[in-house]
Amino acid sequence: MARAAVPGRLGERVRWRASTLLDTRAETSSAHTLVLKVPGWPGHLAGQHVDVRLTAEDGYSTQRSYSIASAADGELVELTVQRVSDGEVSPYLVDQLGSGEQVELRGPVGGWFVWRPEQTEPVLLVAGGSGVVPLMAMIRARRAAGSRAPFRLLYSVRTPEDRIYRTELLRADHGLDVSYLYTRRAPEGWARAPGRLGVKDATESGWPPQFAPTIYVCGPTGFVEHAADLLVDLGHSAERIRTERFGPSGG
Ligand SMILES: Cc1cc2nc3c(=O)[nH]c(=O)nc-3n(C[C@H](O)[C@H](O)[C@H](O)COP(=O)(O)OP(=O)(O)OC[C@H]3O[C@@H](n4cnc5c(N)ncnc54)[C@H](O)[C@@H]3O)c2cc1C
Repeated sequence: MARAAVPGRLGERVRWRASTLLDTRAETSSAHTLVLKVPGWPGHLAGQHVDVRLTAEDGYSTQRSYSIASAADGELVELTVQRVSDGEVSPYLVDQLGSGEQVELRGPVGGWFVWRPEQTEPVLLVAGGSGVVPLMAMIRARRAAGSRAPFRLLYSVRTPEDRIYRTELLRADHGLDVSYLYTRRAPEGWARAPGRLGVKDATESGWPPQFAPTIYVCGPTGFVEHAADLLVDLGHSAERIRTERFGPSGG
């Protein structure tokens, strides 16, 4: 059966494009940033993701979703991939894909979990592990736009070594506050005992509900559900909480 042509911008997004790896940066021992050149890239909003497709010589093909880490920058797209040790795709992207090699990308995907430079209200970003990736794109897009929207990032990691974008987040931008939560081991002398996100963390490092912040929560499914429930219990309106779950993807 003949398929109808997909019109305009939608057609751009559902099209697979060849992308070339230009560079790789180690963010932690298990998370690497891939800098890809994607000819014809239509641009993206902070928070969107792409589908990545790998095809073996025998024709076997598989795909996964990855958030875009960078603010829009012409044909460059950065992804930060955390190695899942028994995974099929992430160990390949982190450990094997070499400069000059190609992967296929499709996107950008998503229109709800995005931050636009026109937004001026306070923003709370709540990240669990590699869930910081699309939130970092929002921080970078805010910086690129010269936005003064007040941002707070509450970033939950297992140990200090697991902090992705550590150096960049250290030289925090004006109007951006960054707070870390350690769930397994905190730096020496850290006042807060290791543990998962609690009411005190969200109260001290977030915004009061009456400030009506837009809240973006991203990470593993369990983390996202726990954080969103806690924020609603604290009085934040569910309509202002946008979530992205990094569960297994593919298809
Ligand atoms: C919208 C979206 C955006 C995403 N963005 C990112 C991103 O920016 N960076 C990133 O590193 N990942 C991201 N992911 C997760 C990513 O798509 C893959 O699921 C992940 O890389 C694992 O793929 P894999 O092929 O290595 O593992 P698989 O072969 O798919 O799975 C191997 C094993 O690991 C488990 N598993 C799969 N995915 C995860 C996971 N995310 N966490 C814990 N266990 C898992 C599976 O259940 C299975 O037991 C995103 C997912 C979604 C849905």
